[in-house]
Amino acid sequence: MIEGVNFIGNATSSEGAETLRAYNPMENKELAEQFSIATRQEVKQALQKAQAAFLDYRHLSGERKADFLDQVAEEIMSLGDELVERASAESGLPTGRIEGERGRTCNQLKMFADLLREGSWVDARIDHGEPDVRRMLVPLGPVVVFGASNFPLAFSTAGGDTASALAAGCSVVVKGHESHPGTNELISGAIIEAAKKTEMPDGVFSSLNGGPKVGGELVTDPLTKAVGFTGSFKGGKAIFDMVQQRDEPIPVYAEMGSINPVFLLDEKLSASAEELAEEYAGSVSLGVGQFCTNPGLIVAKAGSNLDTFKNVLAEKLSNQSAGCMLNPNISDNYKQQRATMFEQPGIEVVKAPGEEPQTRGAGAVAATTAEHFIANEKLGEEVFGPYTLVVSCSNESEMHKVAGSLAGQLTVTFMGEDEELADYRSLISICREKAGRVIFNGVPTGVRVCQAMHHGGPFPATTDSKFTSVGTTAIERFARPVAFQDCPEALLPDALKDDNPLEIYRNVDGKRISK
Ligand code: NAP
Repeated sequence: MIEGVNFIGNATSSEGAETLRAYNPMENKELAEQFSIATRQEVKQALQKAQAAFLDYRHLSGERKADFLDQVAEEIMSLGDELVERASAESGLPTGRIEGERGRTCNQLKMFADLLREGSWVDARIDHGEPDVRRMLVPLGPVVVFGASNFPLAFSTAGGDTASALAAGCSVVVKGHESHPGTNELISGAIIEAAKKTEMPDGVFSSLNGGPKVGGELVTDPLTKAVGFTGSFKGGKAIFDMVQQRDEPIPVYAEMGSINPVFLLDEKLSASAEELAEEYAGSVSLGVGQFCTNPGLIVAKAGSNLDTFKNVLAEKLSNQSAGCMLNPNISDNYKQQRATMFEQPGIEVVKAPGEEPQTRGAGAVAATTAEHFIANEKLGEEVFGPYTLVVSCSNESEMHKVAGSLAGQLTVTFMGEDEELADYRSLISICREKAGRVIFNGVPTGVRVCQAMHHGGPFPATTDSKFTSVGTTAIERFARPVAFQDCPEALLPDALKDDNPLEIYRNVDGKRISK
């Protein structure tokens, strides 16, 4: 049952007089439950517990932490339909999508559990010699996590940031998203239940309700040692800037917006303009365009093939009715950002949105020339919703200029025949500098959770292009290297002992070896 509480470690708390309520965007009404907004005192208590828990938790074996993460997945599954229905009611996302996201969230937790059991992620390096130096990764300390509204499970309370921070050996305090407080409470309860069952230190996980004030108090507190954020550019940059005011600098890993440019190459476009348009209509409108990997920019050479592509794209989007968006703010912003784009000089409205009832968003397509795109930075901004801008270039050199004018992106995609891709090597090379993931003959929506995934990219896609928020290497954000010099064997962590008791892969005197 949802009680509207904050979780301060294993204790629940609702001291404050201020409350917030969730909104059902499908039915356009507020949900009944009131959620207690955390007070300054509760923020402090959560961080103090997180610090105390960290001192024990960091020393637990990989096996113990893995059992905890596996148990979190089990507790989430045992929430059953209550979780699915609540997340759907708070986000407007269909229950099938929520079920899929729940599976992804649990698999992510299990993936980190497997990583911990295998153990080599600590990147142990041993250099025998004078002096003897041994290095490994150790956890940073309490981490504050902000989730996004568009992934109420997979990028939220028990999402990739929380899973990777707990896996690294950090304690976590989540600032629940105001859009889905009930989902946050159910998942937080599941994490606490798992922590109790696996005998984790009290305070390893806390979760607080509130808005930007609570978020600001959390990230500026000296006990916080890192921040994980998924959301808008505005939110991520505001948090990043707040953290810069601290006496002690700490890392902020903010995954923010992106327009995910797609380059349609000539031969592919001439061979299959209609099929490409159909494929891209599906990607632009997937989840009502509310994906950070939504293709918001499509670039190709001008001509009849591009005209066919644009017309079919517009027609396919016209066939779809307006979809329910995550909340009224997101739907209002979508309409406002889209209107601003339509007013820019040199913009042709290829498909104006159809009827849009309250909190619903319809697909829209605009077009412009490379010249206008390059001259106007506004056109390169994210419109969060089912919108895309088609940019026509007069030749390949203009495509290079468009690519060169792009800001940092999560992804960039090339649609081309095998032979012609080789001819566009230099365009691909320009784009590689701009993006965290380069995709060939696919759509950017859909991020596989795997060992090799990189979901990040140069600013403004993220605040630190070296790191990913998806995949096992996400753990590296919450750890730092420490070197032990001439350390007595008995005092060395197991990962660095001569006889390799953990049987992990290590780099010993420049050679990668395992026991
Ligand atoms: P959001 O409005 O930025 O909110 C994210 C979280 O940050 C919320 O908890 C929010 O608090 C908090 N927040 C926002 N502004 C803040 C401030 N000034 N101070 C303190 N806390 C603040 O983002 P969203 O609407 O949930 O998500 C949509 C956006 O996320 C889109 O732009 C999308 O592209 C992006 N996104 C990116 C990725 C990625 O991996 N890069 C993934 C998914 C989504 P409240 O709870 O008070 O709102």
